[in-house]
Amino acid sequence: MVEERTAELRSANNQLQQEITERQRAEEQIHYLAYYDSLTGLPNRIFYKELLTRSVTYAQRYEQILAILFIDLDNFKRINDSLGHNLGDQLLQAFAAKLQKTVRNSDYVARSDKNEITDTVSRPGGDEFMLLLNEISQVQDAANIAGRLLNDLTKPFELEGHEVIVTASIGISVYPFDGEDAESLMKNAEIAVHHAKGQGKNNYQFYTESMNADVLERLTLGNELHKALDREEFLLHFQPKIDTRTGKITGVEALIRWNHPGRGVISPGEFIPLAEESGLIVPIGEWVLRTACLQCRVWYDAGFRQISVAVNLSGRQFEQPDLAETAAMALRDAGLATKYLVLEITESMIMQDPERAIVTLREAQSMGMHVSIDDFGTGYSSLGYLRRFPLDSLKIDRSFVVNSAHNLNDAAIIKAIIALAHSLKLKVVAEGVETEEQEEFLRELDCDEMQGYLFSRPVTGEEILELLDKEK
Ligand code: C2E
Ligand code: CA
Ligand code: CA
Repeated sequence: MVEERTAELRSANNQLQQEITERQRAEEQIHYLAYYDSLTGLPNRIFYKELLTRSVTYAQRYEQILAILFIDLDNFKRINDSLGHNLGDQLLQAFAAKLQKTVRNSDYVARSDKNEITDTVSRPGGDEFMLLLNEISQVQDAANIAGRLLNDLTKPFELEGHEVIVTASIGISVYPFDGEDAESLMKNAEIAVHHAKGQGKNNYQFYTESMNADVLERLTLGNELHKALDREEFLLHFQPKIDTRTGKITGVEALIRWNHPGRGVISPGEFIPLAEESGLIVPIGEWVLRTACLQCRVWYDAGFRQISVAVNLSGRQFEQPDLAETAAMALRDAGLATKYLVLEITESMIMQDPERAIVTLREAQSMGMHVSIDDFGTGYSSLGYLRRFPLDSLKIDRSFVVNSAHNLNDAAIIKAIIALAHSLKLKVVAEGVETEEQEEFLRELDCDEMQGYLFSRPVTGEEILELLDKEK
């Protein structure tokens, strides 16, 4: 009896033990699900906030500062859509690993000797990540880490044979300057990241009080942008390109302006990023193509049949599968041959999805349009790589031209670009030429065309006509 009873008890006890273990496991799992992101294994938003709250208390007690970095991948949606969700997930995991490595390798972490609180990487959601930097001694440390991170990202990720380049925008808020609790620090880092996006992405921005007003302004501007097309508030200016050998105008570049009823003329740098974000850039871009072609037809009718018009494309626009067809329609409706249109795209637009870029560019080129690489030298692609792309010309970025006559380094870069471009049978245009010294330097290097304030600022279509008349 006793033995039997003991056995019974033992088995009941075993079962209980088992249940307890299972429950513990379940609890652990629930805890994990509640506090960690299952894709990357990083703390999620809730856990991050808890950790941050603890860190703030600590920092308060010991009168230290701490920083949080809100990191948002640029164009992740685009990558996800083009490579598929599986690779998108892999990219997020690889990015998480890179973040952890960057934090671990940073000097100040190695310097620190207390390990009760360590730095935390978290994924609050989607393509957003957060860093918590507990042991910075000065605000500059946070900037250094952000800069290092952006720099690390210039190396592409290798995912199943694809080389994927991602950039990120980073917002930084610092305790106690930008907030005294977890909630406001997180909110302000997020505002700062929006600011970074507005600055053209791939950069970091600190939060400062004044940025609140900035964000508000961007919001109202964005709303007004919706109506600007209907209200016909956009206009185009044109800047001539000059043949270095003959000194004559070969063509112009169309540059958009927004004639805002309350604020006057707003430059594209201010509203193109907004238009990109909202997708409005697609109809606006189409308007630019049509208007530029119509204007080019006016010059043609006035007898200037050598003048082509270059149009800047934005990333979103370049992704439209019917881009070449849209451009062809604009030309057709203006009654212009395709050779009069030059499409200006940037290296980064090509690098977003090189295979698709080749298809789009081939299509445009086979129709007779010309393709030019804008801001050349600022991206990460090499000319050797660009050889694979159907191109006609490239524009050396203004930043190299500015110091070309004095800075040996910039001069060497320009020399190399021109030599290589010529060996690839590409025409070279230098932009931002402001002084005779620069002109002379570029002429010596056999640069084909020049553009810049030295010759003319961007002006109206009628003013271009006057310039052409004077040349006759
Ligand atoms: P971008 O394509 O690099 O255009 C050249 C910019 O440099 C223009 O600024 C032009 O006014 C300015 N510039 C020209 N010569 C000189 C010079 O000698 N010195 C200096 N300091 N600047 C010079 P803008 O018109 O403000 O345009 C800025 C950017 O906005 C353009 O850069 C282009 O990326 C974009 N953009 C302009 N129009 C359009 C458009 O219709 N569609 C799209 N997607 N982007 C546009
Ligand atoms: Ca351009
Ligand atoms: Ca440019």
